Amino acid sequence: MTAPQSTLRPDTASELLVDGRLVPGAGGVFDIVNPATEETIGQAAQGTVDDMDAAIGAARRAFDTTDWSRDHALRARCLRQLRDALGAHIDELRELTVAEVGCPVFLTSGPQLEGPITDLGYFADLAENYAWVTDLGEATPMGIPNRRELRAEAIGVVGAITPWNFPHQINFAKIGPALAAGCTVVLKPAPDTPWCAALVGRVIAEETDFPPGVINIVTSTDHALGEQLATDPRVDIVSFTGSTETGRKVMSAAAPTLKKVFLELGGKSAFIVLDDADLSAACSMAAINVLTHAGQGCAITTRLLVPRERLDEAIAATAGTLRALGAGDPTDPGTMCGPLISARQRERVEGYLQLARDEGGVIETGGVRPADRSTGFYIEPTLISGLDNSSRVAREEIFGPVLVIIGHDGDSDAIDIANDSPYGLSGAVWGTDPDRIDAVVNGVRTGTMGVNGGIWYGADVPFGGYKQSGIGREMGVAGFAEYLETKAVATPVG
Ligand code: NAD
Repeated sequence: MTAPQSTLRPDTASELLVDGRLVPGAGGVFDIVNPATEETIGQAAQGTVDDMDAAIGAARRAFDTTDWSRDHALRARCLRQLRDALGAHIDELRELTVAEVGCPVFLTSGPQLEGPITDLGYFADLAENYAWVTDLGEATPMGIPNRRELRAEAIGVVGAITPWNFPHQINFAKIGPALAAGCTVVLKPAPDTPWCAALVGRVIAEETDFPPGVINIVTSTDHALGEQLATDPRVDIVSFTGSTETGRKVMSAAAPTLKKVFLELGGKSAFIVLDDADLSAACSMAAINVLTHAGQGCAITTRLLVPRERLDEAIAATAGTLRALGAGDPTDPGTMCGPLISARQRERVEGYLQLARDEGGVIETGGVRPADRSTGFYIEPTLISGLDNSSRVAREEIFGPVLVIIGHDGDSDAIDIANDSPYGLSGAVWGTDPDRIDAVVNGVRTGTMGVNGGIWYGADVPFGGYKQSGIGREMGVAGFAEYLETKAVATPVG
Protein backbone atom coordinates (compact mmCIF):
# COMPACT_ATOMS: atom_id res chain seq x y z
CA MET A 1 0.00 0.00 0.00
CA THR A 2 1.32 3.45 -0.88
CA ALA A 3 0.97 6.37 1.50
CA PRO A 4 -1.87 8.81 0.84
CA GLN A 5 -0.77 11.29 -1.84
CA SER A 6 -3.49 13.84 -1.34
CA THR A 7 -6.67 14.65 0.42
CA LEU A 8 -9.90 14.30 -1.51
CA ARG A 9 -9.92 17.87 -2.78
CA PRO A 10 -12.72 18.08 -5.30
CA ASP A 11 -10.53 19.95 -7.79
CA THR A 12 -8.45 16.79 -8.10
CA ALA A 13 -11.42 14.49 -8.57
CA SER A 14 -11.69 14.83 -12.34
CA GLU A 15 -10.05 11.59 -13.30
CA LEU A 16 -11.14 8.16 -14.41
CA LEU A 17 -9.71 5.02 -12.84
CA VAL A 18 -8.57 2.76 -15.66
CA ASP A 19 -6.19 -0.18 -15.27
CA GLY A 20 -4.97 1.01 -11.89
CA ARG A 21 -4.17 4.56 -13.03
CA LEU A 22 -5.98 7.87 -12.59
CA VAL A 23 -6.32 9.29 -16.07
CA PRO A 24 -8.11 12.28 -17.60
CA GLY A 25 -11.28 11.69 -19.59
CA ALA A 26 -10.73 11.86 -23.35
CA GLY A 27 -13.80 14.12 -23.54
CA GLY A 28 -12.43 16.72 -21.08
CA VAL A 29 -14.57 17.52 -18.04
CA PHE A 30 -18.15 18.33 -17.15
CA ASP A 31 -19.59 20.49 -14.40
CA ILE A 32 -21.05 19.32 -11.13
CA VAL A 33 -23.86 21.42 -9.66
CA ASN A 34 -24.81 21.58 -5.98
CA PRO A 35 -28.60 20.95 -5.97
CA ALA A 36 -29.10 23.06 -2.85
CA THR A 37 -27.26 26.17 -4.10
CA GLU A 38 -27.34 25.69 -7.91
CA GLU A 39 -23.62 26.59 -7.88
CA THR A 40 -21.07 24.76 -9.99
CA ILE A 41 -18.84 23.15 -7.40
CA GLY A 42 -16.32 21.39 -9.59
CA GLN A 43 -15.75 19.11 -12.53
CA ALA A 44 -15.68 15.42 -13.27
CA ALA A 45 -13.87 13.60 -16.05
CA GLN A 46 -15.84 13.21 -19.26
CA GLY A 47 -15.23 9.59 -20.22
CA THR A 48 -15.74 8.57 -23.84
CA VAL A 49 -16.48 5.35 -25.68
CA ASP A 50 -12.71 4.86 -26.07
CA ASP A 51 -12.17 5.32 -22.33
CA MET A 52 -14.88 2.75 -21.64
CA ASP A 53 -13.31 0.40 -24.16
CA ALA A 54 -9.97 0.67 -22.32
CA ALA A 55 -11.66 0.11 -18.95
CA ILE A 56 -13.48 -3.01 -20.15
CA GLY A 57 -10.22 -4.30 -21.68
CA ALA A 58 -8.39 -3.75 -18.38
CA ALA A 59 -11.11 -5.54 -16.39
CA ARG A 60 -11.09 -8.47 -18.84
CA ARG A 61 -7.29 -8.79 -18.68
CA ALA A 62 -7.27 -8.58 -14.88
CA PHE A 63 -9.88 -11.33 -14.68
CA ASP A 64 -8.34 -13.63 -17.29
CA THR A 65 -4.63 -13.29 -16.54
CA THR A 66 -4.28 -12.71 -12.79
CA ASP A 67 -5.02 -14.72 -9.65
CA TRP A 68 -7.60 -12.21 -8.42
CA SER A 69 -10.58 -14.54 -8.80
CA ARG A 70 -8.83 -17.34 -6.86
CA ASP A 71 -7.03 -15.32 -4.18
CA HIS A 72 -9.78 -14.98 -1.55
CA ALA A 73 -7.40 -13.58 1.08
CA LEU A 74 -6.14 -10.80 -1.20
CA ARG A 75 -9.68 -9.75 -2.02
CA ALA A 76 -10.69 -9.65 1.64
CA ARG A 77 -7.59 -7.63 2.49
CA CYS A 78 -8.15 -5.08 -0.30
CA LEU A 79 -11.81 -4.59 0.64
CA ARG A 80 -10.93 -3.98 4.30
CA GLN A 81 -8.15 -1.64 3.21
CA LEU A 82 -10.65 0.33 1.16
CA ARG A 83 -13.13 0.45 4.04
CA ASP A 84 -10.46 1.75 6.40
CA ALA A 85 -9.02 4.25 3.91
CA LEU A 86 -12.45 5.69 3.17
CA GLY A 87 -13.13 5.81 6.90
CA ALA A 88 -10.05 7.98 7.33
CA HIS A 89 -11.53 10.47 4.82
CA ILE A 90 -15.04 10.34 6.25
CA ASP A 91 -15.45 14.04 7.05
CA GLU A 92 -14.32 15.16 3.59
CA LEU A 93 -16.50 12.52 1.97
CA ARG A 94 -19.47 13.65 4.03
CA GLU A 95 -19.08 17.26 2.97
CA LEU A 96 -18.58 16.43 -0.71
CA THR A 97 -21.44 13.92 -0.76
CA VAL A 98 -23.91 16.42 0.70
CA ALA A 99 -22.70 19.07 -1.76
CA GLU A 100 -23.01 16.79 -4.78
CA VAL A 101 -26.12 14.74 -3.91
CA GLY A 102 -28.02 17.38 -1.92
CA CYS A 103 -28.86 14.67 0.60
CA PRO A 104 -29.61 15.63 4.21
CA VAL A 105 -26.40 15.33 6.21
CA PHE A 106 -28.09 13.09 8.82
CA LEU A 107 -28.37 10.35 6.18
CA THR A 108 -24.59 10.25 5.78
CA SER A 109 -24.31 8.44 9.12
CA GLY A 110 -26.39 5.71 7.51
CA PRO A 111 -27.09 4.59 3.97
CA GLN A 112 -25.79 7.71 2.23
CA LEU A 113 -22.18 7.12 3.34
CA GLU A 114 -21.06 5.42 6.53
CA GLY A 115 -23.33 2.35 6.22
CA PRO A 116 -22.08 1.25 2.79
CA ILE A 117 -18.44 1.87 3.72
CA THR A 118 -18.79 -0.30 6.84
CA ASP A 119 -20.59 -2.94 4.76
CA LEU A 120 -17.40 -3.51 2.73
CA GLY A 121 -16.25 -5.50 5.78
CA TYR A 122 -19.26 -7.80 5.45
CA PHE A 123 -18.32 -8.60 1.86
CA ALA A 124 -14.64 -9.06 2.83
CA ASP A 125 -15.79 -11.65 5.38
CA LEU A 126 -17.80 -13.42 2.67
CA ALA A 127 -14.71 -13.57 0.40
CA GLU A 128 -12.91 -15.44 3.19
CA ASN A 129 -15.67 -17.56 4.63
CA TYR A 130 -17.98 -18.46 1.75
CA ALA A 131 -18.38 -22.17 1.05
CA TRP A 132 -16.43 -22.06 -2.21
CA VAL A 133 -16.53 -25.86 -2.49
CA THR A 134 -19.52 -28.03 -1.53
CA ASP A 135 -19.06 -31.79 -1.28
CA LEU A 136 -22.09 -33.61 -2.71
CA GLY A 137 -20.74 -37.01 -1.71
CA GLU A 138 -20.84 -40.12 -3.87
CA ALA A 139 -23.48 -41.24 -6.34
CA THR A 140 -23.64 -43.89 -9.03
CA PRO A 141 -25.03 -42.35 -12.20
CA MET A 142 -25.21 -45.01 -14.94
CA GLY A 143 -23.91 -47.56 -12.43
CA ILE A 144 -20.49 -45.86 -12.02
CA PRO A 145 -19.57 -44.55 -8.56
CA ASN A 146 -18.57 -40.88 -8.65
CA ARG A 147 -17.50 -38.35 -6.07
CA ARG A 148 -19.16 -35.01 -6.85
CA GLU A 149 -18.54 -31.47 -5.72
CA LEU A 150 -19.77 -28.00 -6.55
CA ARG A 151 -17.31 -25.15 -6.97
CA ALA A 152 -18.42 -21.53 -6.81
CA GLU A 153 -16.50 -19.36 -9.24
CA ALA A 154 -16.61 -15.66 -10.06
CA ILE A 155 -18.80 -14.90 -13.04
CA GLY A 156 -16.20 -12.64 -14.69
CA VAL A 157 -16.28 -8.98 -15.71
CA VAL A 158 -19.08 -6.92 -14.14
CA GLY A 159 -20.48 -3.82 -15.83
CA ALA A 160 -22.01 -1.80 -12.97
CA ILE A 161 -24.37 1.06 -13.86
CA THR A 162 -25.76 3.19 -11.04
CA PRO A 163 -28.18 6.10 -10.37
CA TRP A 164 -27.75 9.29 -8.37
CA ASN A 165 -30.10 9.01 -5.41
CA PHE A 166 -27.96 6.95 -2.99
CA PRO A 167 -24.71 6.83 -4.97
CA HIS A 168 -22.40 5.38 -2.31
CA GLN A 169 -24.92 2.81 -1.17
CA ILE A 170 -25.61 1.59 -4.67
CA ASN A 171 -22.00 1.79 -5.93
CA PHE A 172 -20.73 -0.23 -2.95
CA ALA A 173 -23.65 -2.67 -3.05
CA LYS A 174 -22.30 -3.62 -6.48
CA ILE A 175 -18.53 -3.17 -6.08
CA GLY A 176 -18.42 -4.89 -2.66
CA PRO A 177 -19.99 -8.25 -3.48
CA ALA A 178 -18.65 -8.34 -7.05
CA LEU A 179 -15.04 -7.87 -5.94
CA ALA A 180 -15.50 -10.18 -2.96
CA ALA A 181 -16.80 -12.86 -5.32
CA GLY A 182 -13.63 -12.56 -7.44
CA CYS A 183 -15.06 -10.58 -10.33
CA THR A 184 -13.44 -7.54 -11.88
CA VAL A 185 -15.56 -4.43 -12.31
CA VAL A 186 -16.17 -1.42 -14.54
CA LEU A 187 -18.37 1.10 -12.71
CA LYS A 188 -20.29 3.76 -14.62
CA PRO A 189 -21.89 6.08 -12.08
CA ALA A 190 -24.75 8.49 -12.81
CA PRO A 191 -23.90 11.76 -14.56
CA ASP A 192 -25.40 13.75 -11.66
CA THR A 193 -23.15 12.21 -8.98
CA PRO A 194 -19.74 11.41 -10.49
CA TRP A 195 -17.68 12.60 -7.51
CA CYS A 196 -19.07 9.96 -5.18
CA ALA A 197 -17.46 7.39 -7.47
CA ALA A 198 -14.41 9.36 -8.64
CA LEU A 199 -13.26 10.14 -5.09
CA VAL A 200 -13.50 6.45 -4.25
CA GLY A 201 -11.43 5.76 -7.38
CA ARG A 202 -8.77 8.11 -6.11
CA VAL A 203 -8.64 6.33 -2.75
CA ILE A 204 -8.47 2.93 -4.47
CA ALA A 205 -5.60 4.08 -6.69
CA GLU A 206 -3.59 5.81 -3.99
CA GLU A 207 -4.32 3.96 -0.77
CA THR A 208 -5.10 0.33 -1.53
CA ASP A 209 -3.47 -2.72 -3.10
CA PHE A 210 -6.23 -3.57 -5.59
CA PRO A 211 -4.31 -4.91 -8.61
CA PRO A 212 -4.54 -2.83 -11.81
CA GLY A 213 -7.70 -3.44 -13.82
CA VAL A 214 -9.62 -5.14 -11.01
CA ILE A 215 -11.76 -2.05 -10.45
CA ASN A 216 -12.24 0.66 -13.08
CA ILE A 217 -14.43 3.77 -12.80
CA VAL A 218 -15.59 5.75 -15.83
CA THR A 219 -17.59 8.92 -15.22
CA SER A 220 -19.44 10.53 -18.12
CA THR A 221 -22.60 12.40 -19.06
CA ASP A 222 -22.99 10.06 -22.02
CA HIS A 223 -25.58 7.33 -21.31
CA ALA A 224 -24.17 5.45 -24.32
CA LEU A 225 -21.30 4.31 -22.08
CA GLY A 226 -23.84 2.40 -20.01
CA GLU A 227 -25.22 0.80 -23.13
CA GLN A 228 -21.66 -0.09 -24.11
CA LEU A 229 -21.32 -2.13 -20.91
CA ALA A 230 -24.54 -3.94 -21.80
CA THR A 231 -23.49 -4.76 -25.37
CA ASP A 232 -19.75 -5.47 -25.07
CA PRO A 233 -19.08 -9.23 -25.29
CA ARG A 234 -16.14 -8.92 -22.86
CA VAL A 235 -18.58 -8.07 -20.06
CA ASP A 236 -20.15 -11.15 -18.40
CA ILE A 237 -22.87 -9.53 -16.28
CA VAL A 238 -24.54 -6.13 -16.22
CA SER A 239 -25.51 -5.05 -12.75
CA PHE A 240 -27.89 -2.14 -13.18
CA THR A 241 -29.79 0.08 -10.78
CA GLY A 242 -32.04 2.77 -12.20
CA SER A 243 -35.44 3.32 -13.70
CA THR A 244 -37.57 0.49 -15.03
CA GLU A 245 -37.58 2.20 -18.44
CA THR A 246 -33.78 2.17 -18.66
CA GLY A 247 -33.69 -1.34 -17.19
CA ARG A 248 -35.71 -2.56 -20.17
CA LYS A 249 -33.18 -0.97 -22.53
CA VAL A 250 -30.28 -2.57 -20.66
CA MET A 251 -31.93 -5.98 -20.79
CA SER A 252 -32.57 -5.68 -24.49
CA ALA A 253 -29.04 -4.38 -25.23
CA ALA A 254 -27.58 -7.33 -23.31
CA ALA A 255 -29.68 -9.92 -25.14
CA PRO A 256 -27.47 -10.42 -28.24
CA THR A 257 -24.52 -11.48 -26.05
CA LEU A 258 -26.80 -13.38 -23.62
CA LYS A 259 -24.99 -11.96 -20.65
CA LYS A 260 -26.55 -12.17 -17.24
CA VAL A 261 -28.63 -9.12 -16.36
CA PHE A 262 -29.16 -8.07 -12.78
CA LEU A 263 -31.72 -5.28 -12.41
CA GLU A 264 -32.75 -3.10 -9.45
CA LEU A 265 -35.52 -0.86 -10.76
CA GLY A 266 -38.32 1.45 -9.74
CA GLY A 267 -41.08 1.19 -7.18
CA LYS A 268 -44.46 2.56 -6.14
CA SER A 269 -44.71 0.94 -2.75
CA ALA A 270 -47.75 0.98 -0.48
CA PHE A 271 -47.91 1.92 3.20
CA ILE A 272 -50.95 0.07 4.56
CA VAL A 273 -52.64 1.29 7.73
CA LEU A 274 -55.04 -1.28 9.22
CA ASP A 275 -58.11 -0.18 11.15
CA ASP A 276 -56.63 -1.32 14.47
CA ALA A 277 -53.49 0.81 14.05
CA ASP A 278 -52.61 4.05 15.83
CA LEU A 279 -53.62 6.13 12.81
CA SER A 280 -51.85 9.30 13.80
CA ALA A 281 -48.51 7.58 14.50
CA ALA A 282 -48.75 5.56 11.29
CA CYS A 283 -49.56 8.59 9.13
CA SER A 284 -46.72 10.58 10.67
CA MET A 285 -44.32 7.76 9.86
CA ALA A 286 -45.64 7.55 6.29
CA ALA A 287 -45.06 11.30 5.91
CA ILE A 288 -41.51 11.07 7.27
CA ASN A 289 -40.83 8.17 4.95
CA VAL A 290 -41.87 10.05 1.81
CA LEU A 291 -40.09 13.30 2.54
CA THR A 292 -36.76 11.77 3.53
CA HIS A 293 -34.18 12.75 0.89
CA ALA A 294 -37.02 14.50 -0.96
CA GLY A 295 -38.61 11.15 -1.79
CA GLN A 296 -35.70 10.14 -3.99
CA GLY A 297 -35.59 6.51 -2.96
CA CYS A 298 -36.81 3.54 -4.93
CA ALA A 299 -38.11 1.75 -1.81
CA ILE A 300 -39.93 4.74 -0.33
CA THR A 301 -43.64 4.10 0.27
CA THR A 302 -45.41 6.62 -1.95
CA ARG A 303 -49.00 5.33 -1.68
CA LEU A 304 -50.65 5.63 1.73
CA LEU A 305 -53.63 3.28 2.09
CA VAL A 306 -55.85 4.10 5.07
CA PRO A 307 -59.28 2.89 6.28
CA ARG A 308 -61.77 4.78 4.10
CA GLU A 309 -63.93 5.84 7.06
CA ARG A 310 -60.93 7.61 8.61
CA LEU A 311 -59.62 9.25 5.45
CA ASP A 312 -60.17 12.84 6.66
CA GLU A 313 -58.44 12.18 9.95
CA ALA A 314 -55.52 10.51 8.09
CA ILE A 315 -55.19 13.42 5.67
CA ALA A 316 -54.99 15.88 8.57
CA ALA A 317 -52.33 13.85 10.42
CA THR A 318 -50.22 13.23 7.32
CA ALA A 319 -50.42 16.78 5.96
CA GLY A 320 -49.58 18.12 9.43
CA THR A 321 -46.33 16.17 9.59
CA LEU A 322 -45.35 17.04 6.01
CA ARG A 323 -45.95 20.73 6.72
CA ALA A 324 -44.17 20.68 10.06
CA LEU A 325 -41.00 19.10 8.67
CA GLY A 326 -40.95 20.92 5.32
CA ALA A 327 -37.90 21.15 3.07
CA GLY A 328 -34.60 22.67 4.12
CA ASP A 329 -30.85 23.07 3.78
CA PRO A 330 -29.27 19.60 3.57
CA THR A 331 -26.21 20.72 5.57
CA ASP A 332 -28.49 21.40 8.57
CA PRO A 333 -28.48 18.28 10.80
CA GLY A 334 -32.21 18.76 11.46
CA THR A 335 -33.20 18.63 7.77
CA MET A 336 -34.90 15.49 6.46
CA CYS A 337 -36.07 16.78 3.07
CA GLY A 338 -33.40 18.52 1.00
CA PRO A 339 -33.60 19.53 -2.64
CA LEU A 340 -34.20 17.30 -5.65
CA ILE A 341 -31.08 16.36 -7.57
CA SER A 342 -31.54 18.70 -10.55
CA ALA A 343 -33.75 21.26 -12.27
CA ARG A 344 -34.73 18.49 -14.70
CA GLN A 345 -35.92 16.24 -11.87
CA ARG A 346 -37.89 19.09 -10.28
CA GLU A 347 -39.60 19.77 -13.60
CA ARG A 348 -40.50 16.10 -13.80
CA VAL A 349 -42.03 16.18 -10.30
CA GLU A 350 -43.87 19.43 -11.07
CA GLY A 351 -45.24 17.77 -14.21
CA TYR A 352 -46.76 15.04 -12.02
CA LEU A 353 -48.23 17.63 -9.63
CA GLN A 354 -49.93 19.33 -12.56
CA LEU A 355 -51.15 15.93 -13.75
CA ALA A 356 -52.66 15.28 -10.31
CA ARG A 357 -54.55 18.58 -10.54
CA ASP A 358 -55.66 17.79 -14.09
CA GLU A 359 -56.90 14.37 -12.98
CA GLY A 360 -59.05 15.99 -10.30
CA GLY A 361 -56.76 15.42 -7.33
CA VAL A 362 -56.56 17.70 -4.30
CA ILE A 363 -53.17 18.99 -3.19
CA GLU A 364 -53.69 18.88 0.58
CA THR A 365 -50.30 20.42 1.32
CA GLY A 366 -47.19 21.33 -0.68
CA GLY A 367 -47.30 21.09 -4.46
CA VAL A 368 -45.15 24.19 -4.89
CA ARG A 369 -41.58 25.41 -4.48
CA PRO A 370 -40.94 26.66 -0.92
CA ALA A 371 -41.52 30.43 -0.77
CA ASP A 372 -38.47 30.95 1.44
CA ARG A 373 -35.99 29.27 -0.97
CA SER A 374 -35.28 31.10 -4.17
CA THR A 375 -32.29 28.91 -5.05
CA GLY A 376 -31.98 25.13 -4.97
CA PHE A 377 -34.16 22.52 -6.64
CA TYR A 378 -36.65 22.31 -3.78
CA ILE A 379 -40.24 21.24 -3.75
CA GLU A 380 -42.46 21.28 -0.66
CA PRO A 381 -43.45 17.87 0.75
CA THR A 382 -46.78 17.14 -0.87
CA LEU A 383 -49.93 15.15 -0.13
CA ILE A 384 -52.42 14.33 -2.89
CA SER A 385 -55.93 13.09 -2.13
CA GLY A 386 -59.09 12.63 -4.15
CA LEU A 387 -57.65 10.13 -6.64
CA ASP A 388 -57.89 6.36 -6.70
CA ASN A 389 -55.28 3.77 -7.55
CA SER A 390 -56.00 4.01 -11.28
CA SER A 391 -54.67 7.58 -11.48
CA ARG A 392 -51.24 8.07 -13.04
CA VAL A 393 -49.81 9.66 -9.90
CA ALA A 394 -50.78 6.48 -8.01
CA ARG A 395 -49.25 4.19 -10.64
CA GLU A 396 -46.09 5.92 -11.86
CA GLU A 397 -42.88 6.59 -10.00
CA ILE A 398 -42.59 10.32 -9.28
CA PHE A 399 -39.27 10.28 -7.37
CA GLY A 400 -40.05 13.35 -5.30
CA PRO A 401 -41.56 14.09 -1.84
CA VAL A 402 -45.06 13.29 -3.05
CA LEU A 403 -47.49 10.99 -1.26
CA VAL A 404 -50.83 9.84 -2.67
CA ILE A 405 -53.43 8.92 -0.02
CA ILE A 406 -56.16 6.41 -0.90
CA GLY A 407 -58.97 4.90 1.18
CA HIS A 408 -59.30 1.12 1.52
CA ASP A 409 -62.26 -1.05 2.59
CA GLY A 410 -60.48 -3.56 4.80
CA ASP A 411 -57.37 -5.72 4.83
CA SER A 412 -57.93 -7.69 1.66
CA ASP A 413 -58.90 -4.55 -0.29
CA ALA A 414 -55.69 -2.90 0.95
CA ILE A 415 -53.66 -5.89 -0.27
CA ASP A 416 -55.40 -5.76 -3.66
CA ILE A 417 -54.69 -2.04 -4.04
CA ALA A 418 -51.04 -2.53 -3.00
CA ASN A 419 -50.66 -5.29 -5.58
CA ASP A 420 -52.44 -3.36 -8.32
CA SER A 421 -49.14 -1.95 -9.55
CA PRO A 422 -46.55 -2.91 -12.15
CA TYR A 423 -43.98 -2.61 -9.37
CA GLY A 424 -43.22 -4.82 -6.36
CA LEU A 425 -40.23 -3.37 -4.54
CA SER A 426 -41.19 -2.58 -0.98
CA GLY A 427 -44.03 -1.87 1.41
CA ALA A 428 -45.12 -1.28 4.97
CA VAL A 429 -47.99 -2.29 7.22
CA TRP A 430 -49.17 -0.78 10.52
CA GLY A 431 -51.58 -2.53 12.82
CA THR A 432 -52.03 -4.33 16.12
CA ASP A 433 -53.29 -7.86 15.43
CA PRO A 434 -50.26 -10.06 14.53
CA ASP A 435 -52.36 -12.46 12.42
CA ARG A 436 -53.80 -9.67 10.31
CA ILE A 437 -50.35 -8.09 9.93
CA ASP A 438 -48.95 -11.44 8.87
CA ALA A 439 -51.69 -11.89 6.28
CA VAL A 440 -50.82 -8.51 4.77
CA VAL A 441 -47.08 -9.28 4.75
CA ASN A 442 -47.81 -12.57 2.98
CA GLY A 443 -50.29 -11.02 0.57
CA VAL A 444 -48.30 -8.08 -0.73
CA ARG A 445 -46.02 -9.10 -3.61
CA THR A 446 -42.86 -7.13 -2.90
CA GLY A 447 -39.23 -7.81 -2.05
CA THR A 448 -39.29 -6.11 1.36
CA MET A 449 -41.93 -5.24 3.97
CA GLY A 450 -41.60 -3.14 7.12
CA VAL A 451 -43.96 -3.91 10.01
CA ASN A 452 -44.93 -1.09 12.40
CA GLY A 453 -41.88 0.95 11.44
CA GLY A 454 -39.48 -1.99 11.06
CA ILE A 455 -36.31 -1.22 9.09
CA TRP A 456 -35.07 -4.07 6.90
CA TYR A 457 -31.98 -2.34 5.48
CA GLY A 458 -28.64 -4.03 6.22
CA ALA A 459 -25.57 -5.57 4.58
CA ASP A 460 -26.92 -9.06 5.24
CA VAL A 461 -30.44 -8.35 3.95
CA PRO A 462 -31.08 -9.13 0.27
CA PHE A 463 -32.90 -6.27 -1.41
CA GLY A 464 -34.76 -6.34 -4.72
CA GLY A 465 -38.06 -6.39 -6.48
CA TYR A 466 -40.89 -8.58 -7.68
CA LYS A 467 -42.58 -7.87 -11.01
CA GLN A 468 -41.21 -4.85 -12.91
CA SER A 469 -39.11 -3.70 -9.95
CA GLY A 470 -36.25 -5.90 -10.99
CA ILE A 471 -34.51 -9.22 -11.38
CA GLY A 472 -32.21 -10.57 -8.68
CA ARG A 473 -31.21 -9.45 -5.20
CA GLU A 474 -28.58 -7.01 -3.98
CA MET A 475 -26.73 -7.32 -0.62
CA GLY A 476 -26.66 -10.31 1.67
CA VAL A 477 -25.42 -13.75 0.67
CA ALA A 478 -28.01 -13.79 -2.13
CA GLY A 479 -26.58 -10.54 -3.51
CA PHE A 480 -23.05 -11.96 -3.34
CA ALA A 481 -24.17 -15.13 -5.14
CA GLU A 482 -25.45 -13.05 -8.09
CA TYR A 483 -21.77 -12.66 -9.03
CA LEU A 484 -21.01 -16.39 -8.94
CA GLU A 485 -21.22 -19.29 -11.36
CA THR A 486 -21.60 -22.87 -10.18
CA LYS A 487 -19.35 -25.57 -11.59
CA ALA A 488 -20.25 -29.21 -10.94
CA VAL A 489 -17.21 -31.53 -10.89
CA ALA A 490 -17.35 -35.35 -10.84
CA THR A 491 -14.51 -37.84 -10.41
CA PRO A 492 -14.91 -41.67 -10.65
CA VAL A 493 -14.27 -43.39 -7.35
CA GLY A 494 -11.94 -46.39 -7.06
P1 NAD B 1 -31.79 6.17 -14.94
O1 NAD B 1 -32.42 4.88 -15.31
O2 NAD B 1 -32.10 7.37 -15.72
O3 NAD B 1 -30.20 6.04 -14.98
C1 NAD B 1 -29.50 5.07 -14.23
C2 NAD B 1 -28.14 4.85 -14.85
O4 NAD B 1 -28.33 4.27 -16.15
C3 NAD B 1 -27.30 6.10 -15.07
O5 NAD B 1 -25.95 5.79 -14.76
C4 NAD B 1 -27.45 6.36 -16.57
O6 NAD B 1 -26.35 7.04 -17.13
C5 NAD B 1 -27.54 4.96 -17.11
N1 NAD B 1 -28.20 4.83 -18.41
C6 NAD B 1 -29.10 5.67 -18.98
N2 NAD B 1 -29.51 5.17 -20.17
C7 NAD B 1 -28.87 3.99 -20.34
C8 NAD B 1 -28.91 2.98 -21.35
N3 NAD B 1 -29.69 3.10 -22.44
N4 NAD B 1 -28.14 1.88 -21.19
C9 NAD B 1 -27.37 1.73 -20.08
N5 NAD B 1 -27.29 2.66 -19.10
C10 NAD B 1 -28.05 3.77 -19.23
O7 NAD B 1 -32.14 6.36 -13.39
P2 NAD B 1 -31.86 7.64 -12.49
O8 NAD B 1 -32.80 8.71 -12.91
O9 NAD B 1 -30.40 7.91 -12.43
O10 NAD B 1 -32.30 7.08 -11.04
C11 NAD B 1 -33.61 7.05 -10.60
C12 NAD B 1 -34.23 5.69 -10.85
O11 NAD B 1 -33.46 4.66 -10.24
C13 NAD B 1 -35.61 5.55 -10.24
O12 NAD B 1 -36.46 4.91 -11.16
C14 NAD B 1 -35.40 4.65 -9.03
O13 NAD B 1 -36.51 3.92 -8.62
C15 NAD B 1 -34.31 3.77 -9.51
N6 NAD B 1 -33.60 3.17 -8.38
C16 NAD B 1 -33.79 1.85 -8.10
C17 NAD B 1 -33.16 1.27 -7.00
C18 NAD B 1 -33.35 -0.17 -6.64
O14 NAD B 1 -32.50 -0.71 -5.96
N7 NAD B 1 -34.40 -0.84 -7.08
C19 NAD B 1 -32.32 2.05 -6.21
C20 NAD B 1 -32.16 3.39 -6.53
C21 NAD B 1 -32.79 3.94 -7.63
